[in-house]
Amino acid sequence: MYLDELTAPIVRLKGVGPKRADDFSKLGLTQVRDLLLHIPREYEDRMTPVPFRAVLGGGNANTVAEVVAHDYVGRPPQHTLKVHLDDGTGTAALVCFGRNFLERSLPVGKKIRVFGAFAPRYGELQASQFEFEPAETPARAFGKILPLYPLAGGLTHAAVRTAVEAALAGYARHLDDELPDSVRSRNRFPSIADALETIHFPKTLGDVPLARERLAYGELFSLQLSIAKRAIDRAARAREPIALPVALRDTVASSLPFPLTQDQQTVLDEIHADVCADRPMARLLQGDVGSGKTLVAFLACLPAIEAGFQAAMMAPTELLARQHAENAARYLESAGVRVAFLSGSVGEAGRRPLLEAIADGRVDLVIGTHAVFSASVEFRRLRIVVVDEQQRFGVLQRLALTKKGTDPDLLLMTATPIPRTLALTVFGDMNVSTIKTMPPGRQPIETHLARHGNEKKVYDWVRRELDAGRQAYFVYPLIERSDAVELRDAESMHETLTGLFAPHATALIHSRRSEDEKRRIMASFVSGEIRVLVATSIVEVGVDVPNATCLVVEHAERFGLAALHQLRGRVGRGRHKSYAFFVYAENLTEEAKDRLKVLLSESDGFAIAEHDLRIRGPGELSGMRQSGYLRFRVADLARDMAIMNSARAACFEILENDPGLEASENASLRQLIDRTRSEEECV
Ligand code: ADP
Ligand code: MG
Repeated sequence: MYLDELTAPIVRLKGVGPKRADDFSKLGLTQVRDLLLHIPREYEDRMTPVPFRAVLGGGNANTVAEVVAHDYVGRPPQHTLKVHLDDGTGTAALVCFGRNFLERSLPVGKKIRVFGAFAPRYGELQASQFEFEPAETPARAFGKILPLYPLAGGLTHAAVRTAVEAALAGYARHLDDELPDSVRSRNRFPSIADALETIHFPKTLGDVPLARERLAYGELFSLQLSIAKRAIDRAARAREPIALPVALRDTVASSLPFPLTQDQQTVLDEIHADVCADRPMARLLQGDVGSGKTLVAFLACLPAIEAGFQAAMMAPTELLARQHAENAARYLESAGVRVAFLSGSVGEAGRRPLLEAIADGRVDLVIGTHAVFSASVEFRRLRIVVVDEQQRFGVLQRLALTKKGTDPDLLLMTATPIPRTLALTVFGDMNVSTIKTMPPGRQPIETHLARHGNEKKVYDWVRRELDAGRQAYFVYPLIERSDAVELRDAESMHETLTGLFAPHATALIHSRRSEDEKRRIMASFVSGEIRVLVATSIVEVGVDVPNATCLVVEHAERFGLAALHQLRGRVGRGRHKSYAFFVYAENLTEEAKDRLKVLLSESDGFAIAEHDLRIRGPGELSGMRQSGYLRFRVADLARDMAIMNSARAACFEILENDPGLEASENASLRQLIDRTRSEEECV
């Protein structure tokens, strides 16, 4: 049995009833393995004796003392028992608030082991928090180091200790080690059973760090093992390379209205080498908002198309997918590339012939929403899959994609840069390309913060820009007024702004409008007929209207840092100077203040992502919070990078030597991969 197989419910443990199990579940602990990995937050040393004399100035005493007297402070019935002790080095008193019944178990003359937080008060040493046990019985909670746990509900440390003891005795002692001997001995790790015993009940505090490292290593090792397996399996899947003069790509590139930036060219070369190779590509393309990833993606598809294969590109919103399809048509159709748009809102009548054309290979490039990968869509020869704004898709959707072809190339694109920790976890089996520079001629976006109440100045500014021929976005956290929260909403503000900015035309766009309405509104905004677009965060990703120079986000405190940076990327896309105004409500939390300040001082998406990681932690950032995939009990990505690197290197080494994990010493790893994989697929 391995640790991750201990899925028995905690309630099955001796001494744990349904009520207690319920308390554990409040901490996210439901199975025995969860409990075993519920790491103490600190330890209490009840091994080293600390007599009263040593804590005269205050501190934890740990001593054996005799009860020498009782008295009461206050009058009955509110009086409080005081038990006076003498341990031979000095005297001290236990103040028994609400526990006058202790008078009976602590008679004068009784000897006890006592541990408590003592402080000098009224000329004597006192403790109101203390634990004791009779000195004549064998020591239970004394003479050792005791764990202190994160608690919830009615849980006490003693209750957690009892449950953990039961789990250690009933399960942990018999565990097999999932780490191969070679890994264990190289790191001098204790066995898994010893590591668990030590982390909960260490013999000395000095043993704790290695036990913790062993457990963190175990978590990161399983993750890296499945990553390494994916990478190595992919590299083993030989396919037909593409050997072409890539005339198509060059034709399209030279017909563009502008030259590619140096970074676009560089990443395109990296991608190009992959897509023509005899092994499938797995690559992540990151580049700040507006850095020109879309064009790179189009060009990346061309070698495959030229060689007679198909390409597919998926975007998270219909708005964005449609914009991509229009651009693709503009750049690619004159070169003979057949582009099709597919989304859930394409009606049955249009859909059937479209699906047939895709299945027959009469379409070269399919662009759409997740509908592209729904069951009814079949490709004839899908060779490359592009996912734009990949952070908007779930793990499952990304998995489903690659199943539409035999080992297609995978290009994931993101404007939310992936910090190194995540690059090695979620994307640990992928190569990474980065666009760092923006197309030339962009002016930095001027960012301002304004408090609600001062927004008139902002509106005046926008008015001047509109009068000068520019356009603006206004973004709100809500579609319509809500009685539950006092927030401005897009619907009411659309009315207000329409009056305010007349005769400039305004429009309202949000997720509840029909796709048809959205399309018409966006088309008029792109053409410049509509000058002010009042929206929800629906315009967050990808929308590209170079004439828009003003972005106003009201209740900016309600949006995440990455979202605000993305929203800001809607402007500064043309040759005119652009402005972002973040309007915030009066009473900001510290965290919200932090976020807004970051936006003032940083314009670089990478720097912003690092701040975001600092403020929110990695799970949230990856958009994988709910997936459970990055939910470690012991490992901490901010602190355990070295352990992760070491586990990663070990996994790749093992798999490179034994890709099928057929050696007998690796048999357990094969099972581990299967178990990890089935959990990933359940998320
Ligand atoms: P991203 O998806 O990376 O946020 P886009 O692909 O939407 O960025 O590109 C932003 C804008 O920059 C688009 O209007 C695009 O036409 C333009 N663009 C892309 N590459 C270049 C380039 N090399 N020179 C000038 N403009 C470019
Ligand atoms: Mg984009």
